[in-house]
Amino acid sequence: MTTERAYLDWNATAPLRPQARAAMVEALDAIGNPSSVHAEGREARGIVEAARERVAVLVGAEPRHVVFTASGTEANMLALSPKTGGPWQRLLVSAIEHPSVRSGGRFAAVEEVAVTAAGFIDLADLTDRLAAGPPALVSIMLANNETGVVQPVTEAARLAHEAGSLLHVDAVQAAGRIPCDINALGADLLTLSGHKIGGPKGAGALVKRTPLQLDPLVTGGGQERGERAGTENVAAIAGFGAAAGAAEADLAAESARVRALRDRLEAGLRAAARDLIIFGADAERLPNTTLFGLDGMKAETAIILFDLAGVAVSSGAACSSGKVQPSHVLRAMGVAPALARSAVRVSLGPTTTEDDIERFLTAWITVSGALLEKSRGMAA
Ligand code: PLP
Repeated sequence: MTTERAYLDWNATAPLRPQARAAMVEALDAIGNPSSVHAEGREARGIVEAARERVAVLVGAEPRHVVFTASGTEANMLALSPKTGGPWQRLLVSAIEHPSVRSGGRFAAVEEVAVTAAGFIDLADLTDRLAAGPPALVSIMLANNETGVVQPVTEAARLAHEAGSLLHVDAVQAAGRIPCDINALGADLLTLSGHKIGGPKGAGALVKRTPLQLDPLVTGGGQERGERAGTENVAAIAGFGAAAGAAEADLAAESARVRALRDRLEAGLRAAARDLIIFGADAERLPNTTLFGLDGMKAETAIILFDLAGVAVSSGAACSSGKVQPSHVLRAMGVAPALARSAVRVSLGPTTTEDDIERFLTAWITVSGALLEKSRGMAA
């Protein structure tokens, strides 16, 4: 990618951190199978276990509680696959979860917990639903991928536990951006994805604080304590571990730096279009995320114009880009469909610079002018 472009789509995926690249290149030369007992096997095992330790530290967990998977999606699916016959007979998920949670894993049905207009899960609705049936597995994300709104997970954990239920937390977007300690959160299960924190795509982890018996998605060998069979992807795991270590080391300084850039971006957005709405603006949000909308604007067109101006942004979640329907997140927040269809997500990360923000704001003046003129022309 040339330096003339500004990559502002970090919530879709983060560029590989140099530490992750170096760890992966080194791991590619480890020839052994981590399950082999000879020196070559032990070397590969050492790489996997060092990475496990770093991933565990990022979320304050014990290394033995980390199960490596091939994605955040797979970790979510595994979390929602408790062994049959266990006490968790139903699944409650918030209405703003990622599709990999909303699809319900191995549960036959999914009950949705409402969300407030500000973008938080509705704790009163969660309380009522917990009281209305047998123990549940509850799944709530720590931060939403579209709005960045940070969810009241600690309170949700307390409510779930008081009702004899368990809490799974999808921390894919939050990890490495805000503190994310599995014990402080009270989460029983927690999902991570390597590529959102500067590791490679295709590496994820499920962290289990509670000895909940899961029904593995992949069976065969006894890898990952029998919870995920198949020879480990040693290089990807090494990259994930290195990215986790780097994210942990930079967290406080980076989140302050990125928040200042994001605040500047939002001030510039508003200065050029007074009617602009920043979704979740009144809530606590990830420091790197802005989701904005403007009546009369079409997100798909805006994204193409931004792209032509050298700026990569997206409309809500990457996985739902290309679909014309408004995002399920904004729908759950009660945003009018036309306004929801205008939503553009800008997300920043460790290599975002002031120049990137300037490039974005320069492009925004052209994009907003062109789009609003067009919609006024159509209304005339
Ligand atoms: N959960 C959330 C909140 C996400 O944003 C994503 C990816 O966009 C995932 C899960 C899935 O992670 P992966 O891309 O590793 O499958």
